[in-house]
Amino acid sequence: MKVTIVYDNEVEKQGLRAGWGFSAVVQDEDMPKILFDTGADSPTLLHNMSKLGIPLKGIGIIVISHAHGDHTGGLPGILEVNKDAKIYVPASFWGTIPARKVITVTSSVQISERVFSTGELKGIEQSLVLKTDKGILVLVGCSHPGVGNIIDAASKFGKVYGIVGGFHEFHDFDRLSVLSLICPCHCTQYKSEIKQLFPQQCVRCGAGLVLEL
Ligand SMILES: [Zn+2]
Ligand SMILES: [Zn+2]
Repeated sequence: MKVTIVYDNEVEKQGLRAGWGFSAVVQDEDMPKILFDTGADSPTLLHNMSKLGIPLKGIGIIVISHAHGDHTGGLPGILEVNKDAKIYVPASFWGTIPARKVITVTSSVQISERVFSTGELKGIEQSLVLKTDKGILVLVGCSHPGVGNIIDAASKFGKVYGIVGGFHEFHDFDRLSVLSLICPCHCTQYKSEIKQLFPQQCVRCGAGLVLEL
């Protein structure tokens, strides 16, 4: 399984653009490509995806973590080109997406063979649970429900190996000590503290980062 960061506050690969927001693409054999969140704006997202060689039409599933603009802003640009992707939104999502197969998520749901949603947690946000060969990788948007609560929800699917995405104001750092991969992205307020505490496990996030699992 492969996770590519396509939109982030920082850049990891030359030629890509940064923006305040988050988006990642999940690829696996025999599975439609999944776009998780869409960043804050279409031009940046589309530029980065094109530079990374990920065609918009190749996206089969779009999962929106929560309704905040820094995760939904790129959606119009994608939908203009991609007319077929199935879309999973949390129940708290307030926008309307016309003429689409939209699945509203409340409790945990299977999205493809090895990909699940935690379900909407705390009435605001869903995270993706990826069953990789190394264990569960959790892909998070902003972690508004709390990183600890998200890890607990993901643990129902197996042993959590790592977490990637925005951790927001999370600072209960002990919760990360059991993980083998920690990739704090986007809105994570305590990036440098996390890096200092877990230098071996921590991976620097940015648009263009590819994680093979
Ligand atoms: Zn948010
Ligand atoms: Zn955010």
